[in-house]
Amino acid sequence: MIERLEETDSKPEELFADAGYGSGENILECKGHDVELSAPITTGKEPDIAHKVQLSDFEVGEDGIRVTSCIKGQVPLSCTISGKGKTVSAIFPKDACSVCAFRTICPVKRSKGGNFRLRYTPAAMATSRGRQEQEGKDFKERYKIRSGIEATVSEAARVTGLKRVWCRGLSRVRAAVSFKALALNIKRYIAAELEKAAKGQSGGAPGLRFRLFHVLVMVQQFFRCQSFAQAA
Ligand code: SF4
Repeated sequence: MIERLEETDSKPEELFADAGYGSGENILECKGHDVELSAPITTGKEPDIAHKVQLSDFEVGEDGIRVTSCIKGQVPLSCTISGKGKTVSAIFPKDACSVCAFRTICPVKRSKGGNFRLRYTPAAMATSRGRQEQEGKDFKERYKIRSGIEATVSEAARVTGLKRVWCRGLSRVRAAVSFKALALNIKRYIAAELEKAAKGQSGGAPGLRFRLFHVLVMVQQFFRCQSFAQAA
């Protein structure tokens, strides 16, 4: 999908998607195209954040993959990516880990040389960080935009039967869908005005003329868009 948006020069900086698209793999895939994916992650096992140190508790570098320090502030001796980018290994010094209070709940494992190794995949790190982010106020605030769009699409499907058109050919289908969108906009506009009138905020006859003028402008703009679309 992002490739198609790139082709039409309409690639977004941030992409909001529903929970079905929320995964570490998709986050990384989007990142590879300089797009930030915002989608709740609901798949997979629920992490035990109350009793275990999570991958997202480790600090990472600018690439969002390599660990730069752990929850105790310990810097790894090394952090390498192998297996064609599929595995990351961060080695922590035995002196630090063996006396650490978090040792039993930390995902590091003792490696051959006695040091401790944290092994993970870039996707697992992206998933863990994504889960952590979605609990934050900032994510919830940004994600509200999607709920607004969902409500509009759902209303369009219910009120205008947007999912079905009784014609064939791209230009006819485009015209039919545009008429449905126009009808929906006028309906919503009138509903908003009726609500204002019920609250005594409509501004009387001059206000009514002004609002009718608004509707006419909307219709006019619609036909302009149609002629542009047909000319394109
Ligand atoms: S066990 Fe090691 S890696 Fe884990 S928190 Fe402690 S010092 Fe950091």
